[in-house]
Amino acid sequence: MRHSAAPLVALALGAAAAPALAEEVNVYSHRQPELIQPLVDAFSAQTGIDVNVAFVDKGMAERLAAEGDRSPADLVLTVDIARLMQVVEAGVTQSVESDVLAGNIPAEFRDPEGHWFGLTSRARIVYASKERVADGEVTTYEDLASDKWKGRLCTRSFTNDYNVALTGAMIAHHGVEETGAWLEGVKANLARKPEGGDRDQVKSIWAGECDISLGNTYYMGQMVNDPEQKEWAESVRIVFPTFEEGGTHMNISGVAMTRAAPNREAALKFMEWLSSDEAQRIYAETNHEFPVKAGVPRSDLVESWGNFTPDALGLVEVAAQRAAALKLIETVDIDG
Ligand code: FE
Repeated sequence: MRHSAAPLVALALGAAAAPALAEEVNVYSHRQPELIQPLVDAFSAQTGIDVNVAFVDKGMAERLAAEGDRSPADLVLTVDIARLMQVVEAGVTQSVESDVLAGNIPAEFRDPEGHWFGLTSRARIVYASKERVADGEVTTYEDLASDKWKGRLCTRSFTNDYNVALTGAMIAHHGVEETGAWLEGVKANLARKPEGGDRDQVKSIWAGECDISLGNTYYMGQMVNDPEQKEWAESVRIVFPTFEEGGTHMNISGVAMTRAAPNREAALKFMEWLSSDEAQRIYAETNHEFPVKAGVPRSDLVESWGNFTPDALGLVEVAAQRAAALKLIETVDIDG
């Protein structure tokens, strides 16, 4: 019986397998899966292309290198310019040429060689207690090292990518020595040891443990939309500090195509779609990030924070200081 049934089974599987050959894209994401889901859903609904997202917290470049040409991943989604460039420098990406991407993404937000593309940007700002910090009391990043903040500053670990990038930008502006002194000053001002994420610092301000903290802009959007965290958000206002002779520190989230990319065509479609008006609007409305595509509006909440001057320092210049920044952070032992 088994033998005679075998061809039927094979046939049935063969028939069922046909739709499974439908296009798909495999994504390794360094971003939280819930941030990506609304984008994936909209893209799949429109194109019929399945997008499988695997969350990769650490060791993205190492994993892709180990998998080599047999990697199932087509795309890498990540935050932080230095992380994006690490993947590129590990040789596990490929160059993508696309008029759509070149048209939608301004030149300063993409690699001239086509190995990485920025999809959203965000500012690293100061959250300041509405009660205990006066308007205009904090204006620059440099000022965070001043004595007046003694015991009033909270931050997440400085080895976190966002703070490494900020430190790298400080090095690009002022050099290693001055940045070392700045880190010493910041360390001396800490209300407690660095711990938690950016939102935990706002919680600490709400709880009265400190008066100011560093954080990325979109976390405000996440907090106001969370029943528990809304109160934290309401205890602070957003201040866009600048470098003394520059603007507000920016970073990006972005995408790269892997060298292996088994589903290259579908992956390119997804990349291009992520830069479209529709996707950029989803990023703006659901994640409260700044769209990179010109003409796509910021969310009302983000708009309500007012305008600011982004720092003129290029992303690549910031990323180039990553190693120096990490070394300095470890030397000063700001987390210790
Ligand atoms: Fe984040």
